[in-house]
Amino acid sequence: MRYLFTANIIIDILIIKKGDFMKIDFHVHVTPPDIIKTWEKIGEKEPYFKLLSESPVNKFATAEEVVMELENSNVDKAVIFGFGFKDMGLCRYVNDYVADAIKKFPDRLIGYMALVPTSSEVEKEIDRCINMGLTGVGEIFPYGQDFDITDLKEMSPLCNSCIERDLPVMVHTNEAVGHHYSGKTDTTAVKASAFAYNFPDLKIIFAHWGGGLLFYELMPEIREQNKNVYYDTAASPFLYDNRIYKVAKEIGILDKVLFGSDYPLIPMTRYIEDVAKSGLNQIDQALVNGENAKALLKLDTPHDPIW
Ligand SMILES: [Zn+2]
Repeated sequence: MRYLFTANIIIDILIIKKGDFMKIDFHVHVTPPDIIKTWEKIGEKEPYFKLLSESPVNKFATAEEVVMELENSNVDKAVIFGFGFKDMGLCRYVNDYVADAIKKFPDRLIGYMALVPTSSEVEKEIDRCINMGLTGVGEIFPYGQDFDITDLKEMSPLCNSCIERDLPVMVHTNEAVGHHYSGKTDTTAVKASAFAYNFPDLKIIFAHWGGGLLFYELMPEIREQNKNVYYDTAASPFLYDNRIYKVAKEIGILDKVLFGSDYPLIPMTRYIEDVAKSGLNQIDQALVNGENAKALLKLDTPHDPIW
């Protein structure tokens, strides 16, 4: 057993040295073409969608555009999801779009589902999406979709369903300090920590570095509490300088960092370049760029029995 395990690690290192490792963008937004056309109308009933959509930095991308971006950026796969609307009907609509996209581009796209945690339909929609091939939940917006991640009762139906089905949940978080931007809400590291405390068995991906929660993993109790927590790098170039990657390594949580671009907000190559210049060695860069994601997504294929 130990021999096989060591052999696999050696193979992994050889693959990484060859540069033949996978790059996976874990945070990509897709929007169906007809929502792109009618976003202003939809925004009348969806204030958070309106707020983000009318921001000068906002862009929309279809699944085809994401696949083109993957090609151009030399990134292998993307985890895609539709907008987390307040209305479950719209969530179902974007979930259908994501399901079609992953069928069309099965080697390139992995689909996550948009959900309203407080909806009575949440479990039904999870199972409908699983049947369509979606494998996780997110990005959910506590402020924008009007739910409280610190409320155990409110979050239990979604989180317990996801624990039972082994689905990771991606939650939007943001910093408590610093410059303002559209989408900077009260979902900070304080609330994120309470959420992780309430659901220790849930695989959680805190978007945007958990609003800084990663730094608190220097506290032993937070390290223990957050053992199923991952952090994505979405919007990082707008938030932190690229020393954050080495800091994450120093804290000892590099194996929980997932490259996520927030595309189409920022091009994917921007992150690859940032990581390359961060001072991380090649193997650590590979972990961030895709190897950590590969493990979380269970994309590891068994190695050929060449030993
Ligand atoms: Zn976000």
